[in-house]
Amino acid sequence: MVFDKKSLPEPIYLDQVQIPGGLWENRQSANRNRTIPAIYNKLQETGRIDAWKMNPDRTIPGRRSVIYMFFDSDTGKWVEAAAYSLHTHPDKALEKQVDDLIDLVESAQEDDGYLNTFFGNLEPENKWANLRDWHEMYNAGHLIEGAVAYKRATGKDKLLKVLSRFADLIDEKFGPDEGKERGYPGHPELEMALATLYRETGEDKYLALSKYFIDERGKDPHYFDKEAAERGEKPEDFWAQSYKYCQAHKPIREQEEATGHAVRACYLYAGIADVALETEDEELLELSRLLWNDLTSHQMYITGGLGPAHSVEGFTFAYDLPNETAYAETCAGISLAFWAHRMFHLEPHGRYIDVMERALYNNVLAGVSYEGDQFFYANPLTSYPFINPHEHFSGVNSDKHYRRQDWFFCPCCPPNLSRIVANIGSYFYSTTDERVYVHMYNDNSTSVELKGATVGLSQSTNYPWDGAIQLTVDVENPTEFEIALRIPGWCRGYSLSVNGNAQSLTPENGYVIVSREWQSGDTVTLTLDMPVDRIVPHPQIRQDAGHIALQRGPIVYCLEEVDNGANLANVAIPANSQLDSGMEGDLFGGIAVITGDAVRIEPEEWSGGMYEPQAVVKHTRTPFKFKAIPYYLWANREPGEMRVWIREA
Ligand code: ZN
Repeated sequence: MVFDKKSLPEPIYLDQVQIPGGLWENRQSANRNRTIPAIYNKLQETGRIDAWKMNPDRTIPGRRSVIYMFFDSDTGKWVEAAAYSLHTHPDKALEKQVDDLIDLVESAQEDDGYLNTFFGNLEPENKWANLRDWHEMYNAGHLIEGAVAYKRATGKDKLLKVLSRFADLIDEKFGPDEGKERGYPGHPELEMALATLYRETGEDKYLALSKYFIDERGKDPHYFDKEAAERGEKPEDFWAQSYKYCQAHKPIREQEEATGHAVRACYLYAGIADVALETEDEELLELSRLLWNDLTSHQMYITGGLGPAHSVEGFTFAYDLPNETAYAETCAGISLAFWAHRMFHLEPHGRYIDVMERALYNNVLAGVSYEGDQFFYANPLTSYPFINPHEHFSGVNSDKHYRRQDWFFCPCCPPNLSRIVANIGSYFYSTTDERVYVHMYNDNSTSVELKGATVGLSQSTNYPWDGAIQLTVDVENPTEFEIALRIPGWCRGYSLSVNGNAQSLTPENGYVIVSREWQSGDTVTLTLDMPVDRIVPHPQIRQDAGHIALQRGPIVYCLEEVDNGANLANVAIPANSQLDSGMEGDLFGGIAVITGDAVRIEPEEWSGGMYEPQAVVKHTRTPFKFKAIPYYLWANREPGEMRVWIREA
């Protein structure tokens, strides 16, 4: 492929899309009405707002708690979420709240541009002393992204100026030039943020710094060794034991598989995709493909969750995908969606959006309660009472059930979720000069520029509960252009018509392309077959062997105890069971559920030992009608067991 940025599609911005209904309107209104205010209250309650009032006596007013190193990132992500929400739904009170917070952030900036509540308040002598573990650069990245989003939403650039000064300081201090330190972020994020800052300001130095961070990573002599020695520590005493944890075990261009902490990994890979695109770097594109293929064909849960291991919050080895102890951090699914979206814009192919969709509708949306104010950090695919694999982060309720929490010691996930939900409109479409790509289906309308003309499109659909999508075109004058409609990877049959006339078109790279001179009122009707699919796992995923999962469209389903009784491990779905789907209007605002025949396989009686010879145990098979709900909605009703992978009888 000849790599030419100008020929590639560009993402749209969220203000180009209105979402009046459907699943995403439902999630956005919960985000606006509950999540954003709930997170602000927590920022306040936990001292994250007051931390910006820099204190010479190293205490936070009114509280005895201390500041933690990652505090500022939570502010940054909340500002970003609020900015996206303000962009589509102006709200004077929220805007005032953000403005007041920005005043505080500005007041905390030091004369040279430095900005960090932890080191500024508590340990000024330790600034930049541990890029490996401490989060100055990570925090800077999130604040930059918040600042850019707020400028775009409101036109106000106070925070952007503050963060540009901080970015300038980082640029003065780190880089390949003589006299600069050759450091880079231990927790990637700033790479992506600098690309965003470059796009917003047009300042080449921010892109160059991002590229430098990527290329310097993992090189010898190793910066993390050097700084450890300067702190008087032995590099081999690094708690994670290997720089694989932070993707710095070897130079990035020599890496071949996704390793380590899953969120760090995908933030880094998303930053690599940004730099690959902006610098038209073929080698980075090739690397991105390699890492993408490794991750999505060996290390991804059916929900789009990433990272089975709690110990490193990340990857272990190929096909190791335990369900009960799955970490599958909400942020990891979000970071996968960020990366997938960027990969599409590097190499336009529906396979990237398929993964984005898988992560968004399953792992990501599971991270927030239906009401919008409780959150999961880890997202297991099986849950039983008395088992809490992730006590440190999530806790359990009094019945020992794993439930969403209203906050965490390290609350990276809630504001991350909030910002991607608020910004979801920007994931719906992309454009080239003559083509509009339709990636996601939901009620919405958009306005894009094609060949210098303004083109309006409106979608009407009940996706993901139904596969029928109607698209109506609005143009001032008849205009020739192409509409590329995504045929999702899960879809095995579809029909397409334009103004009622059936079209037989074959997808190219995951999209059917309808090319004609369009007139106002022209309609495209796409119907995606959406049967209930029994999904079988790769034969090497040992934890799922002999099990199936239920999926319909992009939605992965689960069984919950509240619908199906306890001991879900004993429930099996016969291979010949008829599976049906239907709308349940009273449940969660109207969702499709799956029903069918199942059996409960249990011993007639059990003598009491742990293990018994099969010859002396008689099992009964009790038929019953099961009901499965979308995985992302689990744990919103009575506490109980949950399973995604179900035995097949
Ligand atoms: Zn997180």
